[in-house]
Amino acid sequence: MSVSIEFSQRLQQLPPYLFVEIDAAKRKAKAEGRDIIDLGIGDPDTPTPAHIIAAMQTAVQDAANHHYALDAGLPSLRETIARWFQGRFHLELDPVSEIYPLIGSKEGLAHLPLGLINPKDKVVLTEPCYPAYRASVIFAGGKITHIPLKENHGFLPDLKKLENVKDAKLMFINYPNNPTAATASREFYTQLVALARDKGILLVSDMAYSEIYYDEQKPPSLLEIEGAKDIAIEFHSLSKTYNMTGWRIGWACGNPKMIQALAKVKSNFDSGIFQAVQLAGIAALNTPREEIGDLRRMYEERRDTLINGLRNFGWKIPSPQASFYVWARTPKKFKGSMEAAKAFLDQADIIITPGVGFGPSGEGFVRMTLTVPKPRLIEATERIGKIL
Ligand code: PLP
Repeated sequence: MSVSIEFSQRLQQLPPYLFVEIDAAKRKAKAEGRDIIDLGIGDPDTPTPAHIIAAMQTAVQDAANHHYALDAGLPSLRETIARWFQGRFHLELDPVSEIYPLIGSKEGLAHLPLGLINPKDKVVLTEPCYPAYRASVIFAGGKITHIPLKENHGFLPDLKKLENVKDAKLMFINYPNNPTAATASREFYTQLVALARDKGILLVSDMAYSEIYYDEQKPPSLLEIEGAKDIAIEFHSLSKTYNMTGWRIGWACGNPKMIQALAKVKSNFDSGIFQAVQLAGIAALNTPREEIGDLRRMYEERRDTLINGLRNFGWKIPSPQASFYVWARTPKKFKGSMEAAKAFLDQADIIITPGVGFGPSGEGFVRMTLTVPKPRLIEATERIGKIL
């Protein structure tokens, strides 16, 4: 008998993947050997620092690190995270109950709703957003309510809109934001925490870009706000700060009960982070802070190169205060962000990401990354200039 294989309803509910066409065009262009400049993907181009690689090499040689790791991570990793957090945000976290290491922050973000919501529970997402939030809510059977992020609101959610949302259980927020590059102030977080507490909404803060900021404007942690720890969990990542996207290490921290929920889900799905990666993670978190300053200066120089270069061709783009993304209004000559992305690829061999792929309010914008070297960014601005 032939067996028909169908995807689960869960999978079928996922929104259509809007980047399909662009991805296919990208692959084709690369296969044709064209000299593509990829401003599409947010993956640091510079290598992981040498001292982290050295720590990994030593750890890998030691057979004691070859076994199943502790689900909750090495106590020394959790203590190092606590020290890092205290140094950066001046906030004490209990390494045992308030910190949980992850195999990259994405898996934690994606698993959390399974531990905190029931089918049909309402979850608030701001959009445009990092696509993993949407999928994680759908997998857990939740119902998504969107709050748009608008330019005239600094790409922060309008809290009056949140006030009108009834019976939401969870809300995801992400600052510094992907894709809009916006940051949130302590004042905004204070209002958000007050409202969320009032309405009984649990907050999930994604701070994957916490260390990629400019002009010494350090983004605050949501957990710094009084009372936040009663209702919030925050996700951090080593991926962008230490050029470790492929290594898969991050952490969740905050409310112990929310941490427990995540830990319980994860204990049924994975068996911890490879211990050698945990030891490399400790080496990363002990990196002198000045070195991250060098990384920020590199992105800042690239940001100015790209933005000033494009300004010369009449494309005015506000300077992002954080993240390595540039979020720009689609030039008027294109009907939408998708058409712009296709034209950039066809006519200039440049990959950019159409804003609509991050949610309906992303239409009218395109995202460009700063993860390519300066000479290539100069080349990119010249090529873009020609099609503008
Ligand atoms: N959150 C945001 C907003 C991101 O853009 C990314 C990756 O691009 C992640 C989380 C996931 O990072 P990782 O799983 O590498 O820690």
